[in-house]
Amino acid sequence: MPLEVHQFPCLSDNYGYLIHDPDAGVTATIDTPEVAPINAALEEKGWQLTHILNTHHHFDHAGGNLELKDRWNCTIIGSRDDAERIPGIDVKVGDGETFQFGNFDAQVFDVSGHTLGHIAFYFPEAGKLFCGDALFALGCGRLFEGSPAQMWTSLQKLMALPENTGVYCAHEYTQANAAFALSVEPQNDALQQRAKEIEALRAEGKPTVPSTIGLELETNPFLRPMSEDLQANLNMQGAELVDVFAETRRRKDSF
Ligand code: ZN
Ligand code: FE
Repeated sequence: MPLEVHQFPCLSDNYGYLIHDPDAGVTATIDTPEVAPINAALEEKGWQLTHILNTHHHFDHAGGNLELKDRWNCTIIGSRDDAERIPGIDVKVGDGETFQFGNFDAQVFDVSGHTLGHIAFYFPEAGKLFCGDALFALGCGRLFEGSPAQMWTSLQKLMALPENTGVYCAHEYTQANAAFALSVEPQNDALQQRAKEIEALRAEGKPTVPSTIGLELETNPFLRPMSEDLQANLNMQGAELVDVFAETRRRKDSF
């Protein structure tokens, strides 16, 4: 049976995700933004929490680790490179490694940049990517700890995934991201179309997440430094892609 995903809001703009392999009877929460809604979601689904998969150490991602571990005695899997900042970590994983979640492979990518030791979890059979605060719908994480070059390297790993891969990011930032994206690449028809769809979804209070790798490649300015329109709008025609990415990120910081 397929890998099930249950999505629900946490805090002001985070998404909680429970993933469940019905055949193996295992359930993980992707990060622990807020304990009460995670426990409520488990109860609603009738699932027992067996794992926590942490993308990075920020409080809105690992803040509920110890309370949930205390209640469920679950196994916490996180980055080897950030182990000292992941509360209660049991299993340490790193870039290029694969572990089993029930009957599913989970591949780990180091996607440092937002933080050092930020990882993403990719389930190839299910076609789903849980990327925390590395890649957002129409955006990418702010560079608190890593360099632009490091983040660009990280994002290219995600860009190489199949286009139909579901992108489950950790925040509903899409509408604000769309406004910025339109400011740097207004000529992008797919982006204009997507911005309208996002507006309609948000007007109804619906999530804009998950998206797909293919949609992000077409519309997310942080994945599009090769766009001639984007380069021209930044006055960076022919510049190195990493420099175009860095300038795009810099502009977003003060948008
Ligand atoms: Zn974060
Ligand atoms: Fe976050």
